[in-house]
Amino acid sequence: MTRYRTIFGPIPSRRFGTSLGIDLSPGKKQCNYDCLYCELAAAKPVESIENPPAVDEVTSELKAALKEHPDIDVITITANGEPTLYPFLDELIDRIDAVKNGYRTLILTNASTIHLPHIRTTLARLDTVKLSLDCVTPECFRKLDRPVPSVDLKKIVEGIREFRKGYRGEMILEILMVKGINTTDEEIEAFNRILPTLGADRIDIGTVDRPPAYPIEPLSYRELHAIAGKFDPSLPIHIAGRHKAKEAKGAFSDEEILTTLRKRPLTMDDIETLFDEATRKRFEALLKEGKIETKRIGGLTFYGTEFFKQKVKKSKKSS
Ligand code: SF4
Repeated sequence: MTRYRTIFGPIPSRRFGTSLGIDLSPGKKQCNYDCLYCELAAAKPVESIENPPAVDEVTSELKAALKEHPDIDVITITANGEPTLYPFLDELIDRIDAVKNGYRTLILTNASTIHLPHIRTTLARLDTVKLSLDCVTPECFRKLDRPVPSVDLKKIVEGIREFRKGYRGEMILEILMVKGINTTDEEIEAFNRILPTLGADRIDIGTVDRPPAYPIEPLSYRELHAIAGKFDPSLPIHIAGRHKAKEAKGAFSDEEILTTLRKRPLTMDDIETLFDEATRKRFEALLKEGKIETKRIGGLTFYGTEFFKQKVKKSKKSS
């Protein structure tokens, strides 16, 4: 593959499809957070991206990479840091739109700038927006994401709520779980007060995949599953990244399968992780008998007996 400075991939992803990534801070990490779980080389948090790549450079590399890899599903805007700190984001999206030729567009952002109306307008032009929201109490946020002082969690939450009102694409929230920090009952209770008011299409909860710079431990799949069970059942929670979490296969009777799915609809990834082979066969039989239903939610297929009933009305994806 040709080496590009601002384009990387393609990277297959279960959550988003095969993606060609755009890195808006190719020289070094530039982020306004310093998360305990960050897998990038440690760097002092900053308010803006220094020496950003020119829009022309990114666009011409993207055009060439799309020619080289026509089989991708999505163009992902990201950074070695925070992509919404890139000063020419709106202009870049104009140029991506001109060459994207049917591919979906996605941004992975830490949500720190979503309180700014011009950023909301820019993000609303993308098909999928994935926003991190690791904590909803200021103490947890300062401890885990360690932002620059100007970042205000209350404004982020309000910004997300405001964004949802006008956004017609897929809004996905991501919570990276770190043991003892945002896994406490107090934090989950706070999540349960706030998340149902945000109208996310999907809420991914995950854990660290690789050991980060700071000494934090990944959660096992079972631990993530137990935490998922503490969230308000109206929330479209999805356990992300379980292929790297410790496998936790077990045997379930028909009734136990139905009880598990009644508590929370699961994706095929969850089913493969949780159910042993005999249980999988029982699951398939229940599916054939119509005792289990399927539903497409936030770009993924969920299996359940009842589906998330969010309290917030949200717009349907237009495309
Ligand atoms: S927001 Fe992302 S890039 Fe920034 S410190 Fe956190 S994990 Fe690293």
